[in-house]
Order: sequence, then structure tokens, then C-alpha cells
Amino acid sequence: MPSEVCVSNPMRVLISGASFAGLATAFWMTRLGHKVTIVEAAAGLRRGGTPVDITGETIDILRRMGMLDAVLAKALPPRGFDFKDENDATLGGFTAETGERDPATARYEIHRDDLLDILFAAIDGAIDMRFQRSIRQLSDNASAVTVTFDDGAQEQYALVFGCDGNRSNTRALAFDDAETASYFMGGYFYLRVVPETGLLPGDTSQLFSVPGKSAMLNGYHDRTDICLAFRAERPIAYDFRDKAAQRRLIREQFEGIGWKVPAMLAHVDTEGDFYFDQANQIRMQTWSTGRIALVGDAGYCVSPLAGMGGSIALIGAARLADALAQHPGDHAAAFQAYETGLRPFVEAVQERAATNGMSMLFPADEAELAERNRRLRDGTIDL
Ligand SMILES: Cc1cc2nc3c(=O)[nH]c(=O)nc-3n(C[C@H](O)[C@H](O)[C@H](O)COP(=O)(O)OP(=O)(O)OC[C@H]3O[C@@H](n4cnc5c(N)ncnc54)[C@H](O)[C@@H]3O)c2cc1C
Repeated sequence: MPSEVCVSNPMRVLISGASFAGLATAFWMTRLGHKVTIVEAAAGLRRGGTPVDITGETIDILRRMGMLDAVLAKALPPRGFDFKDENDATLGGFTAETGERDPATARYEIHRDDLLDILFAAIDGAIDMRFQRSIRQLSDNASAVTVTFDDGAQEQYALVFGCDGNRSNTRALAFDDAETASYFMGGYFYLRVVPETGLLPGDTSQLFSVPGKSAMLNGYHDRTDICLAFRAERPIAYDFRDKAAQRRLIREQFEGIGWKVPAMLAHVDTEGDFYFDQANQIRMQTWSTGRIALVGDAGYCVSPLAGMGGSIALIGAARLADALAQHPGDHAAAFQAYETGLRPFVEAVQERAATNGMSMLFPADEAELAERNRRLRDGTIDL
């Protein structure tokens, strides 16, 4: 357990990406006594998105990081999850947990931005933070990694951690299987966060499905998440810069569908930031090469279907730090231990999201929808 350990051999460590994986890895590396630089492509921390789940091992990790109280102070009220039919009748679901939570099964949610702020506050001033900067080239040799940045500067680092998300730059620059690592799960999703809409009560989520399409609303006191997802057998070609074309695509997919979908589509039509992407996972043969290792979505994105992207990034950073503390001076053994220890858990989460998660939240056809609804009636649904 490295939480208070200072190693005798401080190293220069470079991290690409300043989100959950990057900030948490930076936290642990400074605790291990290393000198940390982060490069982040964006001009500041990238904000927005749906809340992050905090459960299981993540609770212990936040406690070890000294952040649990700050996280619990910002935790959202417990939320219920209802599956709806087109008349808005509830087919089944999960009620909000109330009362004292059992630490073994407790589950908290916190807004993405609040968790980012807590993580950043813990390392601000202790690291060399460089926004609007990214890596152009990595040259790994036995004793160090020579890094060329996008401004042409060159520096040497003992270790480099790719924490740069689903479309990781580090993965593309350093790993042979980068091009084949993305596993298409068979669908696309649109997400937009808008001010509170009145479409559903606060502290609830609602999901409505027809074969091959699902519409989900998350209600909070100050905002509503609008999520629309549709199945596709194979990746579809679209220009990821052409936002108007993506809006049209969503409208074509959901036009004529009942429940609250027409009201949701009205928000699709208005200008404003939204996410539209394929549901995918990152499945790598190995998470490290030489002195370079991947953490979080960069190495093992589990997809939004798993609902665990943020917490797995925190777990990955802590497990990596534990492994480095257990193998001082031997990064190869540490990277091996990190991967051996964490891979079975990640693969189980990925498998579950790609099978059970897809068929329960996002049934492909009439048969899957009927089976999902049967499990709702029987109370045997499990996400
Ligand atoms: C803005 C945003 C909103 C999100 N919203 C949701 C959501 O609503 N629901 C959901 O399930 N998941 C969402 N995610 C993904 C989810 O947060 C991740 O699964 C989880 O945060 C994993 O964390 P990560 O640090 O591994 O990757 P990410 O959170 O994706 O962070 C990667 C970081 O690397 C940076 N980066 C990318 N390329 C480069 C580069 N070339 N050089 C330097 N830095 C780079 C990015 O700007 C980003 O800050 C979102 C991610 C982001 C960035």
C-alpha cells in the first residue's frame, strides 16, 4: 500500500490526459515521490457528462486518497431507476436506496465535474500541469522514453502513462495493436445535459425501449440528461465534426417513437454541446510496452453501458501505484503485476456490459425486449 510511501528513487513521470485516470495516477505518483508532468490536449479540465458511480473498491481507494469525505459531501441523493412502457407505466426497476448504507454494497453518485475538482485540488501545485499540449512522438529505449511534444520540444522521462481516454493518443503512438483495439458493441448513443426539463421527477432515471432503440432520462434537481441510443450491426460512416448531420441521424432514428421521445427530440434540435459516439470498448493484448503503460479508458474502456468508466480509471491508477510500490526499481515487473491483477476484473465488466448490459438496457429485437420485460415482471433483472 503506497499511500504514504516515498520511494528512494524519484523518477520523472509523464502523464497524457487530465481526467480521472490521469489526475488519480498523478496523485499516486507524487505520493510515491516522483516528479510528475501532465499534458492535456484541452484548454482546461474537460467538464460535463453524466455522474460517476462510486462503489466497491473505489470507496476504499478514495478513503486511502483522503478524499472520501469530500466525495460523500458532494454525493447525489439516492436515485431510483424505472423501466417504462409507452403509456409511462412502470414495468419494473430499482428503488432508491434509503437509510444507512451497508459499506459493502453502498453505491454513491457524484457529478463528474465535482469529482474532477476534488482530484485536481489534491495535486494542484505539486505537479507540472501543461494544458493545450500533447505528445507527438514517443521513443522508448532501455533507460528512458524520449518524448517529442506537439510544440517540438523534447524531454526524457523514466515512465510514461497514457491516460488519454477511449481515443488514446499514447495507445496510437506506442502500441502495435492500437488500430484493432476498439471493439464495436453494435450501437450508437447520443447524450445531452440540459437545464431541468420537468420531464421526470428529480433523483430518478427512466428508460423506454422499442426493439433496437432506447430513450433514457436522468432527472436531477437542476438538470436533465437526455440519452438516446440505437443499434447498428456495423459502424456507420459519418463526419464526427458535422454536428448537424449527427442531429439529423438521431432524429431519423427516433422520429415516430412514442413515450417522451418527441419532447426529447426537441432538445436534440436546439444548438448546444452534446456527445454522439459509438458504444465501444478497448480490448488490448497488453496494457504496457517498455516504459509506457495505459490507465483507464485508454487501455481498457468498458463503455458507458457498464456505468463504471470513472471508477475503473480510479481503480486502475491505484492498482498501478500499488504495483510500482511493490516492485521498486522494476517497472516491468510492476506493469506485469498491475495487469495480471486487474485484467480479470476488467474483462468480467466488459463481458457483462457487452452481453447483459446491452440486452437489458438496449434490447436488439422483439425477443430480447420480451425477455427483458419478463425479467422486470419477475424481479430478476440485474444490471
Ligand atoms: C468530457 C467528457 C464527458 C464524458 N461524459 C461521459 C458520460 O456522460 N457518460 C459516460 O459513461 N462516460 C463519459 N465520459 C467518459 C468517462 O468519463 C470515462 O469512462 C472515464 O472518465 C474514464 O476516465 P479516463 O481518465 O480514462 O478517460 P477520459 O475521461 O476520457 O479522459 C481522457 C482525457 O485525455 C485527454 N486527451 C485526449 N487526447 C489527448 C491527447 N492527445 N493529449 C493529451 N490529452 C488528451 C482528454 O481531453 C481527457 O481530458 C466522458 C469523458 C469526457 C472526457
